[in-house]
Amino acid sequence: MGTGLLDIDLDAVAANWAALDAKTAVETAAVVKADGYGLDIAKVARRLARAGVRRYFVATAEEGVTLRAALGAGPEINVFSGHMAGDCDMIRDAGLIPMLNSAEQARRHRQALPDAAYGVQLDSGMNRLGMEPADWAALRDDLEAGPLALIMSHLACSDAPGHPQNAAQLASFSAMTDGVSVPRSLSATGGILLGPEFHFELCRPGIGLYGGAPFVDARPVLRLSLPVIQVRDVAPGETVGYGATWGTERPARIATLAAGYADGLIRKMGNRANLWAGNIACPLAGRVSMDLLTVDVSQLDEVPEHLDILGPHQSVDDVADAAETIGYEILTSLGSRYTRQYRGDAS
Ligand SMILES: *Cc1c(COP(=O)(O)O)cnc(C)c1O
Repeated sequence: MGTGLLDIDLDAVAANWAALDAKTAVETAAVVKADGYGLDIAKVARRLARAGVRRYFVATAEEGVTLRAALGAGPEINVFSGHMAGDCDMIRDAGLIPMLNSAEQARRHRQALPDAAYGVQLDSGMNRLGMEPADWAALRDDLEAGPLALIMSHLACSDAPGHPQNAAQLASFSAMTDGVSVPRSLSATGGILLGPEFHFELCRPGIGLYGGAPFVDARPVLRLSLPVIQVRDVAPGETVGYGATWGTERPARIATLAAGYADGLIRKMGNRANLWAGNIACPLAGRVSMDLLTVDVSQLDEVPEHLDILGPHQSVDDVADAAETIGYEILTSLGSRYTRQYRGDAS
């Protein structure tokens, strides 16, 4: 087989959800936007539904339609981007709950679908999505009188527990929602770990479900094994790869593996990440190509048929560090060429 093998442990996703749920006294939803952080929204959500998840969040109405088809009627599907022009049929037919982000979205939704449930997203300081305090103050009575299901906001710095913006956003969200009678949600994965005052009635983790920081106690979800196409001996003075950025002063053995930046192995990790042969780290040697990696396997007595780039010794966050990015980007960049193998019942 000429492509990498991506092993996705859905039971670990379910266990991570349960572990995050156990950290709060409130309901825990699941964020499955971007195709379940790249791992397949239908499989992830079905496994989570079996674990007891009743509320889901996606980025767009289109994702909500896909999720509804996977889950069937029943679970609540909330849409972060709210009610965009053209979303009306999808929201109605798939029974989605848009998080209304502006006065314009509120007007659009209430006019088009007056009986359809909605949530409200408030901006508590991130300045990305959500109504500003003044918009909300003007609309609050009206919106509270309709089928309002949820009020939410999002923290900009929850992965940095000491950051003063966490307390500032908590104060802003609390002030804006004081006295409301519907559930409130402020926290994603990071906010869950900040403590109970951030939990309100509903938490909505994403990255922690998939094994990423800041949930450092997460069970690993992924193993990515890459086939070795060819092994060669390289003599002192020779170089490896584009730009000749890796050289050797001793005789070396180089393995060439079948995956590259077109498969989400970001070019910046060249010369920095490791491949693993069991417990032995083998450093990347030279730049990442589109379809190929070159690895220094000199210390191995025997080169195995596959080397792992994700697994127990190297998480998505480790790989992200090598590429100067975050685990979220590694997950959502995992390419379509891998053979995907799912552990745990996804039916
Ligand atoms: C992506 C997202 C989440 C989930 O965040 P994680 O850090 O992945 O847990 C929650 N809420 C909003 C608004 C988001 O955009």
